[in-house]
Order: sequence, then C-alpha cells, then structure tokens
Amino acid sequence: MQIVFIGPPGSGKGTQCGMLSDALGCPHLSTGELLRRTRGKSPLGDLVASYIDGGCLAPDFLVMPLVIKLLEQGDFHSGCLFDGFPRTVAQAAFLQNYLGERGQRIDLVLKLRVPREDLIARLSARAKLEGRADDSVEGIQRRLEIYQTRTEPVLSFYHELKIVREIDGSKAAGEVFSEIMDFVNVA
Ligand code: ADP
Repeated sequence: MQIVFIGPPGSGKGTQCGMLSDALGCPHLSTGELLRRTRGKSPLGDLVASYIDGGCLAPDFLVMPLVIKLLEQGDFHSGCLFDGFPRTVAQAAFLQNYLGERGQRIDLVLKLRVPREDLIARLSARAKLEGRADDSVEGIQRRLEIYQTRTEPVLSFYHELKIVREIDGSKAAGEVFSEIMDFVNVA
C-alpha cells in the first residue's frame, strides 16, 4: 500500500508513520530524515542543511535525485509510507507519474489536523529535547507558513482523487493510530 502522510510540522507524521511501518511491515520514507543525513557529507549536503536549519523547503533539484535514488534502491515496490513527501504540488505530480509508470498509485492520503497553538507547544518542547535548529521560534513560524502556502495545495491535488482522509492529530498517539488503522483497513 502506498500511503502519503500530510500535516504541519509537529502534527506527529513521523511518530505515526513509525507505528504504521511496524504494523504493516512496509518501509517509512521520511524526506526530512533523508535530507538531514546528507549534512556534512558533501558541499551539496551542507547546502541542503542550510535550507533545513532555516526552516525553508530544500529546492526540488536537490530533493528529487535523493528521493529517486532511495526509491530505486529500496524495497518500496510493495508499499511505502511517505512522510514529508510530497510537500509541493510539483513533487506530488512527480510521484504520481513515477508510480503510474510502474503500474502503482497512492492508495490513501492521511491528513493530520492539529491546532496551531498545540503545534507550537509540541515543537517548542521538541526544541529543548532534540535541539533541532529549525525548532527555533522563527523556524517554527516559517515552517507553519510554508506548510500553508506550499503544502496545503497538495491536498487539493489529492482531494480530486478522493483519497484524502482527515484525522484529529491532537489526541494521544495511540488514539490517533487506531483511527489511522481504521482508514487503512478499508482503503
Ligand atoms: P517537520 O515536518 O517537523 O518540518 P521534517 O523532518 O519532515 O520535519 O522536515 C524537516 C525539513 O526538511 C523541512 O523543513 C525542509 O527543510 C526539509 N524537507 C523535508 N522534506 C522535504 C521535501 N519533500 N521537500 C523539500 N524540503 C523538505
């Protein structure tokens, strides 16, 4: 099953994808993780890191080759949980073509909805625990704004395909997960 998770920073995409990956036994592709791992490895990796730290989207010409390489290498054919990708309409169109050429499609798009004040509280708490540079006050504001302007339009793309299901991501992780499983079981 090919499942896309869409939600603002702090909505729990990574947590829920991890739980679902364990439950379904299919890989979890987090582009945030993928991009963070390039830091310090090459000048291009450092360039990517500068976008991440500033809370901006890394440009497609840097992100796409990494995503394609991973999809080609890994065992993503029987199913994949996409976390943080696609984040722009151009990325969504790419993924649609990529899967279509291989006789596959996105089965389900899970949208995690969390009130803005909860997101800010969660990300500020994470900043203390993990020390991610983009969890600064400015980084959080910028990522929330970019989510609205660049990523929410991706939902319209998928709404037309009638595969979007919305979930209240403000509940406890276990409750959110059980709602996700309900949607996965009928998809
Ligand atoms: P969060 O959802 O909390 O912002 P992620 O780990 O998903 O955390 O992403 C962190 C950062 O990685 C983003 O702010 C962005 O800079 C970069 N990033 C992740 N995925 C993409 C993508 N698909 N396209 C461009 N940049 C991305």
